[in-house]
This record gives sequence, C-alpha cells and structure tokens, in this order.
Amino acid sequence: MQDVVTSEMMEDKSGVSHVMEESPVDVQISQIKAEPQQANINRPNWSNGQCVVAMPSCSLLNPSFDLSLCRAKLENDGFQIPVRDMEAPLETALSVPSVRRYLVFNSALFHFILAPVLYVVVWCAVFSTLHLYITVRDYWVLWLSVSLVSILLTTAIIFVLHYSNKEINMNVDVRLIQVNERLVKHKLLVAVADWVQTCAGNMQLYFVFWDMSHCLRALTETLEEQSFVEDDTQNKMKRKMSHLVLVTEDPAVDPELGGSDVEQDSSEQRPLLRHEDTGCSTSSSQCGGAKVTTNYSLFPDASLPAQAKAYQLLMTYSATYVRLLVSDRLPGPSNYRLGPRRNHCSNAHLCLCQYIKKKILQ
Ligand SMILES: [Zn+2]
Repeated sequence: MQDVVTSEMMEDKSGVSHVMEESPVDVQISQIKAEPQQANINRPNWSNGQCVVAMPSCSLLNPSFDLSLCRAKLENDGFQIPVRDMEAPLETALSVPSVRRYLVFNSALFHFILAPVLYVVVWCAVFSTLHLYITVRDYWVLWLSVSLVSILLTTAIIFVLHYSNKEINMNVDVRLIQVNERLVKHKLLVAVADWVQTCAGNMQLYFVFWDMSHCLRALTETLEEQSFVEDDTQNKMKRKMSHLVLVTEDPAVDPELGGSDVEQDSSEQRPLLRHEDTGCSTSSSQCGGAKVTTNYSLFPDASLPAQAKAYQLLMTYSATYVRLLVSDRLPGPSNYRLGPRRNHCSNAHLCLCQYIKKKILQ
C-alpha cells in the first residue's frame, strides 16, 4: 500500500516538494514568527495541541470530509483561512481515489474486522495442513494446538499493523505536509486520525491549534547544540529517514525552454530536475522517452542551516504528530530527557519538537 504515494504524488508536486523546493524557508519561518497579531482578535485563548475542529468522514467506504463545514466552523472560531491555504491543498492531498481506498483499507475499523477473518483463515489453513501429515487420535489436542498457533499468528500480524500505524504514513501524513505548511501560518495543523469506538469506525479530519515558533526555536537550538557532532546527527537522521523517499514522474522538458518567464512564475510547472540546488536531494533520475523519474528524499540536506533543517523536520512530522496526539498514541515519556519545562503542548506529555527529538535525534 505504500506505493500509492509514488504514482499519486506526481499530481501535486507542489505538495511535499513545497517544503523543500520553494526553499524560501526563511520567508516561511519569518511568517511563523511575525504573525501573532494578525486575525487574532476574535480568537479565544487557544493552547498548543487543542483540537479546534474535528470533522467526521462523510462515508466509511469512501472517506471524504465536508471542507465547507470545516471552513464555517474555523471562521466561527476566529480562523480566517484563504481557500488556497486550506480547501485547495486538502483536496489535492485527500480526494485522490487511491488515497481514499488506502484510508479505508488502513482504517482501524478494517483492522478490527480483519482480525476475526484472519483468525478463521489461518485456523483453517493450519488445521488442513496438519491434518494431512499428522494422524492424531485425540482431535481436541489438534484443535487446541491449531487454535494456539492461529492466535499467535493473528496477534503477530495485528501487532505489526498496529505498530506501523504509529509511524509516519507515506500515503496520508506525507501528503498533508503541503497543507500543514500553509496552515501553520494560521497557527493550525491538520491530520486524519481514526480508531474504533463501540464497534464503529471513527475517522476524522482534525484541525489542531499549534503555534510553531516555540518548537522551531527549541529544535533549532538542539540542532545547533549538536553541530559539533554534526556527522553523527546526520547519520542518525539518515538512518531513520532513509525510507522516506518520494518518486515523481514528469514529462521531460526541453532544456532550452527552461528560462522562460512563464515557468519561473509558476512553481506548479517547474521541472523538478532543474532544482538540484534546493533543499531536496535528487538521488536518481532517468529519462525514459517523455517521462522523467525523480526521487526526492524528505531527509534534510546537510548543507542547510540549523533553522531550515528544524523547519523541514517539523513540517515532515507535523501530520504524524497530530494524528498520534488526537488518538492518544504518542510514545511514552519513559526515557526522554527533555523535561516538562520544554514541553510546548498543554495537552500531551510530548510536544512536536520533543517527538522529533525522541524519534529522529536520539
Ligand atoms: Zn516543542
């Protein structure tokens, strides 16, 4: 299922690549810092991690969210967000049919239904196999051992699925990076979370209040403190983020047309290959007729300044963090040495920068 992203991300190359490609990270960072007074008049005192709007999915089999109702609720709460910062990127990220199918087959409800079906299938398979090769007089012994094996196998598979749901999700979380990049200017982050409640699926689009300036400052400081062991830090990040690679396909463009004003004006139409000097690393590319395939890594480039790296990490993990925050599945506070004083979230034991430090930098 991870492969959905490869073919779909190319439709919105303004998407994830936005975080790296338009590289005026400084502009975006300064927007985060210098915006507090704007459109804040009608807002109540929100605190980091507080859910502003939770919009349930319209349908279980074809997940979609009523974005006009989201807008109305957000406006009611004092968040005036232009369409280009909310509806348009959310539509691009979530309305693709293959992403909707992925949401259904990866939902907690589907896993809930999958468990007993899987148990029965495994039980029948193991029983029929053993029955062929082992002759047992006491059938209850065979039944019992087959049941035990089936329970163990089913539990292992469900555990793997459950564990993978706690990690960054290439098909949804990564697609939401582009949305969060825009929403963070309005002090909001968005994610899709779901869990089973009283035997019913509960998939919702969550808008959570988040003032990124504190986390950005703290993570930048951490990266600067670690700069004397930069190779070590880069290696750690590379090891933990090496699988986060996006494959995009673009029509091959005649290089002679490259400097035209039209293309410079529109980031949507810029060929990705000519931006090797931006934050993303182009690890391989091949020209095959009319198509060019490019790999983009979400791993921050070593040459970036600490603040730009911190910004890229915060954006990359924003949707994952919000999903785990609202579904109460953030990793435990066990062995992190960051202390509650540096927690920038009032509703959880880990804030976004602490989550990144725990997952990536430790
Ligand atoms: Zn923080």
